[in-house]
Amino acid sequence: MSKPPILLMGHFYQPKLDELEKLYECHRLWAAADPEALFASLADRCQIVVTAGGRGIKADEMDRLPNLKLIASFGVGVDAIDLEHARKLGIAVSNTPDVLTEDVADMALALMLGTIRRIPQGDRFVRDGRWLAGGMPVTHSLQKRRVGIVGLGRIGRAIAKRCAAFNTEIGYFGPNRKSDTDYRYFSDIVQMGEWADVMIAACPGGPATFRVVSRAALEALGPDGVFVNIARGSVVDQEAMIELLAGGGLGAAGLDVFDDEPNVPQALIALDNVVLHPHQGSATYTTRAAMGQLVIDNVGAFVQGHELPTRVV
Ligand code: NAP
Repeated sequence: MSKPPILLMGHFYQPKLDELEKLYECHRLWAAADPEALFASLADRCQIVVTAGGRGIKADEMDRLPNLKLIASFGVGVDAIDLEHARKLGIAVSNTPDVLTEDVADMALALMLGTIRRIPQGDRFVRDGRWLAGGMPVTHSLQKRRVGIVGLGRIGRAIAKRCAAFNTEIGYFGPNRKSDTDYRYFSDIVQMGEWADVMIAACPGGPATFRVVSRAALEALGPDGVFVNIARGSVVDQEAMIELLAGGGLGAAGLDVFDDEPNVPQALIALDNVVLHPHQGSATYTTRAAMGQLVIDNVGAFVQGHELPTRVV
């Protein structure tokens, strides 16, 4: 039996990509000398696209594959996929939830602690030999502080669980109050900013959450406030954030995600009160392997005519 063709739109975890390539007739878009010719050659026979969370797939790309039936994405965030268009065309979309939750929550905590206790700055202090001239200045404490989480979903809850172990009070902002938790609910993000010492963004990206962490929310967090983002760059007003961090209106930030990755503005790189990380929330061997396996499982289920294990649309 011939192997079903797959158009690979975004690179993902190599060992799992290798497995997928053994099972199917895979075509790497990023390696194609002529991407247009590749689309044209697959147009009347390709039913499956595999993409990566950050790459997604645009409406016009779906249109160029009239037989497309499945978009299997490596990542939980589907903000780079035009879901409305997929729905309209009857194309199923799958993602990789749950398996990455704990590692991404760990990253949020690492960034929170690293930012408040100035871990990278301490590392530079030792390496630069500045310790020899005297001790590093003291830092703020996380103890007994208030953490406000933007989006109490799978990752948000895992963050909250960890924060509780650090003796913090926990609040959250999101569209729906959760009946199964005592964490303090805010229907207004600015009010949560006034209440919180630390704000952690853990909501999806896309138009519905664009700039939900507004200038006003960051101003409310204030000069001693800390903002952590493991969600998407689009959820925060990046320009306002940089301006406030530089001018003392916001204390510090720990960021795994940015607008227009991998281009991080020089104005952000120049600041000493930020900890920057290159979108590595889920980037561990075990989690990336589990994510890759879910992609393979979703493709396999589609080919065999079964229910998709993790269907979004
Ligand atoms: P999830 O379980 O679907 O949780 C998303 C949460 O966001 C839900 O609680 C939802 O509220 C809330 N939300 C929706 N709209 C909102 C809004 N306008 N304002 C505030 N909160 C809103 O998703 P998840 O698995 O936790 O993943 C969350 C996101 O993390 C992903 O979409 C992705 O963008 C990001 N992520 C980043 C990395 C990384 O490497 N940095 C890795 C994985 C995921 P309701 O429950 O009330 O609907």
